[in-house]
Amino acid sequence: MSELIIGLTGGIGSGKTTITNYFLELGIDVIDADVIAREVVAVNSPALTAIADHFGENYIQNDGNLNRGLLRSRIFSNEADKLWLNALLHPLIRVGIIKQTKNSTSPYCILVAPLLIENNLLSLVNRVLITDVSEITQIERTMLRDTSTLTEIKAILASQTSRAERLEVADDVINNDTISQQEIKELVISLDKKYLSLTKMV
Ligand code: ATP
Repeated sequence: MSELIIGLTGGIGSGKTTITNYFLELGIDVIDADVIAREVVAVNSPALTAIADHFGENYIQNDGNLNRGLLRSRIFSNEADKLWLNALLHPLIRVGIIKQTKNSTSPYCILVAPLLIENNLLSLVNRVLITDVSEITQIERTMLRDTSTLTEIKAILASQTSRAERLEVADDVINNDTISQQEIKELVISLDKKYLSLTKMV
């Protein structure tokens, strides 16, 4: 089990994946909250059955998978449905995260979670690493990376914690606005040294 858990978060298109890839290169275990969130509603899972019982069988596609698009638009327009879904899934995701951090064998591990703050996951980590960028950079990079429209990106930005709120809980910050990928790698290497030295104190 890793002695030290680092929570990594940042808004849409801020560089979380880029940063975690460098930690992976250094042999550090990365636990991805988004992956766990998908696993808890896998084909034939109890949570998927509960969703179909509550919202209807059409929320399961013919291949047995969750119809994510349908569910997303339902909870987007209905607060009570969103609360019901969160009450079902959040405890399961939390248990999945705890299980994976316990199974981690690297000296420390990274929990990457876009909604680390919004979903009250801070209590699961010992330190917080924030990737911080301006909204303009988030929009530019997200539009370059995928087919999201400006309206879609702005809606996601509005639903996420503000930059200032993230910085308030930060122990370490990577300002990813103007630096190159090589510079990110160098920052990750120096953070790795810091985290390894901290594991000796835990
Ligand atoms: P999301 O939460 O939307 O999945 P993310 O936080 O994981 O995003 P990345 O996918 O790592 O962000 O980065 C978004 C895009 O910006 C990617 O195409 C990535 O290659 C690019 N990118 C990240 N950092 C930099 C940088 N310093 N310079 C240029 N491009 C970058």
